[in-house]
Amino acid sequence: MNFETVIGLEVHVELKTKTKIFCGCETTFGAPPNTNVCPVCMGHPGTLPVLNRQAVELALRAALALNCRINQDCKFDRKNYFYPDLPKGYQISQYDQPIGEDGYVEIEVGGERKRIGIVRVHLEEDAGKSMHAPDGSHSLVDYNRTGVPLIEIVSKPDIRSPEEARLYLETIRSIMQYCDVSDCKMEEGSLRCDANISLRPVGQAAFGEKTELKNINSFRFVQKALEYEVERQTAILRSGGKVVQETRRFDEATQTTVSMRTKEEAHDYRYFPEPDLVRLHIDDEWLARVRATVPELPLAKRDRYMRELNLPAYDAGVLTSDPGVAAYFEQVVAAGADPKAASNWVMSDLLGYLNANNLSVADSPVRPAQLAGLIAEVDKGTISIKQAREVFKAMCETGKDAPVLIKELGMEQISDEAALLGIVDEVIANNPKSVADYQGGKEKALGALVGQIMKATKGKANPAVVNKLLLERLGKPGGNA
Ligand SMILES: [Zn+2]
Repeated sequence: MNFETVIGLEVHVELKTKTKIFCGCETTFGAPPNTNVCPVCMGHPGTLPVLNRQAVELALRAALALNCRINQDCKFDRKNYFYPDLPKGYQISQYDQPIGEDGYVEIEVGGERKRIGIVRVHLEEDAGKSMHAPDGSHSLVDYNRTGVPLIEIVSKPDIRSPEEARLYLETIRSIMQYCDVSDCKMEEGSLRCDANISLRPVGQAAFGEKTELKNINSFRFVQKALEYEVERQTAILRSGGKVVQETRRFDEATQTTVSMRTKEEAHDYRYFPEPDLVRLHIDDEWLARVRATVPELPLAKRDRYMRELNLPAYDAGVLTSDPGVAAYFEQVVAAGADPKAASNWVMSDLLGYLNANNLSVADSPVRPAQLAGLIAEVDKGTISIKQAREVFKAMCETGKDAPVLIKELGMEQISDEAALLGIVDEVIANNPKSVADYQGGKEKALGALVGQIMKATKGKANPAVVNKLLLERLGKPGGNA
């Protein structure tokens, strides 16, 4: 029997606000433990939350970019549970009236576009972070993260493979980065992902029993954990067993998933409307203003690069996967470079250098206009593409402009015909055998003459100009000058 995989993802995205969602504490990542806290986010009696307007705007922009219907009149609810990282004993979230509902994103799977539905986008506060001693003797809690604004993006069960799940997550990250609502660093926890996965016999409409995978902390692990779950559940169903509804986690050491808790231990959160906050009303003017800040999104940009700049799909995909890279590429083109040449340089040399040195494009030692300057030198024939690669390396190390480095490295090609003509004539006069061979029909003999000229100029002669001059002097092979 064959099975179909059904996956839904819940993605938490920390919003890039300066301060927390209900108090004025800073949200900086990496601050010393328990320094960004106050009586409000620590849940002291008598304190009251005040909603951060910027958090609402970022959530709104994200929901709009995910094609959601906006609930202009919505509310916050209390989600009650006890855990040491939650000082209030409840989390302020949105239960039945999320800020955005019923949206979708498009992902590209094997060259085909597929739409993944979004059930809801809601706004809530983050909890603190527990750290457990390896020997189990004690735990510590850092409350800096308590009250950092989050959105939770819940997909419909439209994802059909672990690969699609990874692509969906990458697409969500890309859209959030384009919208500048979050830096989406999985390693810092500003993007987190839980997955629901079940299998059903092909053709069956009802969903199978699902398991939930919690806190997967890298894009690679999302796919790996789900692949392991597909295998595990397939084996259970094939042998006539039943999948138990439970929460599991991915174990990096064994590359498997292990059980955390079963359904019987599931929480009842006793949601009720948050009495300390008024309803959130988003008027038409505010909505329109935020809508105008949604930028051109990755897939639209990719289509435009293919349509307007004639780039291959592969190039357009690589360049638009990160908004910083796309902006850099556009600036190189704006500075006069041919789009395909700019694309080649950005994709191979620039990204190669940045990745090797663990730098982001914002930290690039070579500015877009400088790269355009290098491309211009190749176009003019000052240096060969091979030499340009060396110049680029030197640009990365020194930050100097291409023309300066070409001089410093003694790479300037001789393209001046008058300067080369004397050498061309000398080489013709000194190599009568090659000239005779060429004129007798041996086209290859021309290469020997070019070689002599390159040698005489220490490799600096522009090969195209040399070829042109030789042909002018000697005529076509087999013909007479
Ligand atoms: Zn606070």
